[in-house]
Amino acid sequence: MVPVMAPVMPAAAADLIDVPTKVQACFTAADVDALLALRRDLHEHPELAFTEMRTCAALEQALIRAQPVSVHRVAGTGLVARIRGRNPAAPVVAVRGDIDALPIQEATGLPYASQTPGVMHACGHDVHASWAVGAAYLLARTPATGDVLVVLQPAEETGEGAAAILASGALDGVAAIFGAHVDRRFPVGQVVAQPGSLAAAADTFRIVLRGRGAHGARPHESADPILGAGLLIAALQGVVARRVNPSTPAVLTVATMAAGTASNVIPESATLGGTLRATDPATRTLLAEELRRIAEGIALAQGLRAEVTIELGPPPIVNPEGPASWARAAAEGLVGRDGVVPLGITNMGGEDFAYYMERIPGAFLRIGAREAGGDPTPAHTPRFVAADGSLFVGAAVLAETARVASAALSSPS
Ligand SMILES: [Zn+2]
Ligand SMILES: [Zn+2]
Repeated sequence: MVPVMAPVMPAAAADLIDVPTKVQACFTAADVDALLALRRDLHEHPELAFTEMRTCAALEQALIRAQPVSVHRVAGTGLVARIRGRNPAAPVVAVRGDIDALPIQEATGLPYASQTPGVMHACGHDVHASWAVGAAYLLARTPATGDVLVVLQPAEETGEGAAAILASGALDGVAAIFGAHVDRRFPVGQVVAQPGSLAAAADTFRIVLRGRGAHGARPHESADPILGAGLLIAALQGVVARRVNPSTPAVLTVATMAAGTASNVIPESATLGGTLRATDPATRTLLAEELRRIAEGIALAQGLRAEVTIELGPPPIVNPEGPASWARAAAEGLVGRDGVVPLGITNMGGEDFAYYMERIPGAFLRIGAREAGGDPTPAHTPRFVAADGSLFVGAAVLAETARVASAALSSPS
């Protein structure tokens, strides 16, 4: 970690008081102003997956401030910036920030709250996009050994963006990739950079039970899909309770149900939908098989037909030792040993960064985003907001992780 200029974080930025000194020292006053303005602009104008046109343009403008940099549009509304390293022949490392928002009505009351009704940066991707730009500034000023690609990825929330970036070929030949997520369970200044499970596989299911409709007063003439759906919902609770090894994390949530139009009509069909979460491939397969078996079994018992569709989402994220150790070394240098903390839970959330890690070695981090005295408001809720300070910690840690990884990959071992 080489601070290039004197620490010039403006004293007026009192909300950055909880940012560790070594992180502050990485940024000039102009960086701080530009990144805070960018973050507020993105937050005020959130855009949903693959519609991030304005966001993409704003990020492109912000990236161009980092010289030397070349910026290319990829995957529709995504960007890849190449920051030159000291050795053009050295392996290339990538840093990724996601940029999309969620269909949630914001209730933070912030002066820079969303101006778009029903759309909100409720997952902190405004901060992720800004810290990726911040990392580009830092890497342009203090280059890594090899080139670093800064990836601004659309459509994380729908699980489609990472695959689209990979399909574009923009990351072909990249030797390592790093990403991170804000987390209000941790205060600003704490970072999770560890090997092992960081996010779960997130698969989606849909079950249509087809029966025979009838008059509500003559149920004996029906094959009732609503009764079948009720029995099925209850039976599905037994999958995690009775089929999954208790030492293995798993979730089966029925989240939607739709059936019927009138109180005196037994409908022809009922539809259930939900999500399956697991942190290892065997449990992931078991959940899908059990869901299918039980749906078909209950349908058979009730004289119904079950149509089960399982759409595979991102696989689990399991950080390998090597890349996790580079990230940890980088984080320790910036937030100190005490600032690098264990995740402490099994995260059953999904994250499409997992698609990169199927192809490219890497690591995924969590960046503390709770301001002093704040509460651990969960992401995907109308009052979620990541503290400003997390932007600078994320930018500095990702830039330094790229430098450490680049140096390690370049040195013959
Ligand atoms: Zn999210
Ligand atoms: Zn997110």
